Amino acid sequence: MALDSRSERRANDLRAGNLARVLDVLRLQGPLARTEIVRAVGLSRATVSTLLSELLDRGLVREGVDNRRAGSGGRPPALVDLEPTAAVGVGVDIGRTHVRVVVADLGLNVLAEDVQRVDVPDHPQEALKLVGQMTDALVKESGVDCGELLGVGVGLPGPVDRMSGRLGSATILPGWVGLAPRAELERRLRSPVLVENDANLGALAEGLLGAGRGSKVLVYVKAAAGVGAGLVVDGRLFRGASGTAGEIGHTTLANSGPVCRCGNRGCLEQVAGATALLGQMAAAGVQLDSVEDLLRLAHDGHAGARRVIADAGEHIGLAVANFVTLIDADRVVVGGELGAAGELLVGPLRYAARSAAVTTAGSSIEIVGGELGERAEVLGAVVLVLREPVSLGAELLARR
Ligand SMILES: [Zn+2]
Repeated sequence: MALDSRSERRANDLRAGNLARVLDVLRLQGPLARTEIVRAVGLSRATVSTLLSELLDRGLVREGVDNRRAGSGGRPPALVDLEPTAAVGVGVDIGRTHVRVVVADLGLNVLAEDVQRVDVPDHPQEALKLVGQMTDALVKESGVDCGELLGVGVGLPGPVDRMSGRLGSATILPGWVGLAPRAELERRLRSPVLVENDANLGALAEGLLGAGRGSKVLVYVKAAAGVGAGLVVDGRLFRGASGTAGEIGHTTLANSGPVCRCGNRGCLEQVAGATALLGQMAAAGVQLDSVEDLLRLAHDGHAGARRVIADAGEHIGLAVANFVTLIDADRVVVGGELGAAGELLVGPLRYAARSAAVTTAGSSIEIVGGELGERAEVLGAVVLVLREPVSLGAELLARR
């Protein structure tokens, strides 16, 4: 009797594990034909068929004909994909002057979105309160049942400690160092919260939905007040041992340069960060309040503004060349507030990166502007919740 129930339990665990495997394969590679699923999970055709029947019954996957895959004359195969309405996630992007929130379903369709301005660096509690209010309002607006909410992904400008969810000292939000925004937001939102560095989120989003689609090793450069980079390898975020992989803003360009807020000298950010560029304009007698003002001036043909942006591109390009040579990336996507300058920034960046990278890496690498603009980080935050956790399959099964 005891033996029977134990072997029964083992069979149940095995089945649950296999169901989760199928869901995870669909999350990363879907939509897929049944034969492709069989190959990807490495189980028999009959077993996969039983698993799919159960997932279809529970409303976690759907099956339909995709005409885009129609062959020459043949009938297009039926494709299996995650059911978009099976779960919902929230993405939050906390910048220096704004909070942006989206609600999206498992199919990454945006159901509701809002952005509001707030002084984030000096008023952390106010910003976190606003995140809570905006999230509650948008979840209500999109008609989502709280039970369907899988979690909330939050992007912050700076390296985030993976264990504690706290911000590291290299952030551009000194007033936030040592705060625990994850715990604070979990309390406010009554939902699991994942906190991540904003450049990593931009990388995730551009890799899945934007200019990084189809790349193997993608570097996303976020050129804004700070300069950061995120790395996506085979569709998965690469964070490094402690979560700070890709902090190119604090790589050294000149050991004799001015002292940086991180404690080193001559960091990239000090010559190519947006704050530095506004400083260079001020030194030339042009007082500007924001990056948008700088871009507008450059767009109108102001020689100094154009030069400052082009030089920033060249400096970032040198740092990118070193990075790309080390990791053998095949694509670089440039985003962030400064990335909105387009070819004015990306042209010199591309030229410098290609000249300085090892020939084999430098010649084959594609360096392009981002496609998602100022929404890259918030979309990455929702991708983090809906597509990135390894255990998503198990998480979904536990809910239905
Ligand atoms: Zn630094």
